[in-house]
Amino acid sequence: MSSPNSESIERLILQHLQGFHPYHPVQPPEVLSRRAGVPPEKVIKLDSNENPYGCSPRVREALGQYGLYHIYPDPAHAGLREALEGYVGLGREHIVVGSGSDELIDLILRLFIEPGDKVINCEPTFEPYRVRTDVCGGEVVVVPRDEGFAVDVDGVERALDKATKVIFVATPNNPSGNTTPLGDILRLVDTGRVVVVDEAYFEFCGETAAPLVARYPNLFVLRTFSKWAGLAGLRVGYGLFPTAIAQRLQDIKLPYNVNAAAQVAGRESLKDLDHIQGTVKAILTERERLYGLLSNFFRENMTDDEQSSVAVDLLRGLSSPVLPSRANFLLCRLGSRANEVKESLERKGIFVRYFNTPRMLDYIRITVGKPEHTDALIEALKEIW
Ligand SMILES: *Cc1c(COP(=O)(O)O)cnc(C)c1O
Repeated sequence: MSSPNSESIERLILQHLQGFHPYHPVQPPEVLSRRAGVPPEKVIKLDSNENPYGCSPRVREALGQYGLYHIYPDPAHAGLREALEGYVGLGREHIVVGSGSDELIDLILRLFIEPGDKVINCEPTFEPYRVRTDVCGGEVVVVPRDEGFAVDVDGVERALDKATKVIFVATPNNPSGNTTPLGDILRLVDTGRVVVVDEAYFEFCGETAAPLVARYPNLFVLRTFSKWAGLAGLRVGYGLFPTAIAQRLQDIKLPYNVNAAAQVAGRESLKDLDHIQGTVKAILTERERLYGLLSNFFRENMTDDEQSSVAVDLLRGLSSPVLPSRANFLLCRLGSRANEVKESLERKGIFVRYFNTPRMLDYIRITVGKPEHTDALIEALKEIW
């Protein structure tokens, strides 16, 4: 027998994972700090839509007091699911908790998708829908959003065939910040395919399909504590499913998928809604201020030609390069300078998101931070423009 070498082992890797295109997650603050050459406490992180006010102080306290870190966590997440019942308005038999809603995206695809199956993705949107479909060997069918980033429901209907099993819709969408009307979601549900409505930014917008989950066997809703509740680092999200599907997901997940700290933090967050909703309100107020300041800045500093080439005229005749947003970030259309602006901001320790995909080359996405982050951003733009 010949002894194995790395080539012979790599040949054992599944065919559909041989030339795999990974997701490019954002880097942690210490890496950003080194990259920009600014001290970590000076880094302004506006690239991942995190809550700049952090988690509830009650969460910190509860985590400190919790005494069972040496015991495996509850695999059924009973306490957190019970606490979620009142918050989402559905019984716990509809609720599945994951290590971030990322994990639920993956679990849904594992339940439904094998090589040969198709998943409809309304791009530009949250990249993991594509990446996790690829991991399962499914085929991603892209139905591009229209000029104003609305879901092209007719296009989705035309794209359907026998192999289509799942349709993903983020609302508000990341990175464009617009919502999909309930009527459009219901048209997607009418296709009979699994429709996954990702409401990661629900708390910033208030629109939800959650009450419909109990009525349709093919409508799933995803939520997370990462964005509004300031728990991105602890990884806790959940999904709302028809009961039969919730049970299947519960059956196939890893037993201890959500660690004890994440479960404690999720429960405690729900006991401190006033505080967290206060930070959400502060972010919404700041979003409007940032929108105004950015729009003015571009109006004053872009040439007329630049302005007419990037104006987002699409929604209600607005002519700012900044898209109106229902989430905690703003998408700005900067034309050919987008990447250069992103890199110049980075050298000043301000990190925003740039997407190196054909449709998004002209844009940067800026998370709404605290007022002082807005001020620093506008100052930096003035210096680099
Ligand atoms: C951030 C984000 C998520 C991921 O949330 P986690 O719970 O942290 O995994 C899911 N969907 C969208 C659209 C997001 O922007």
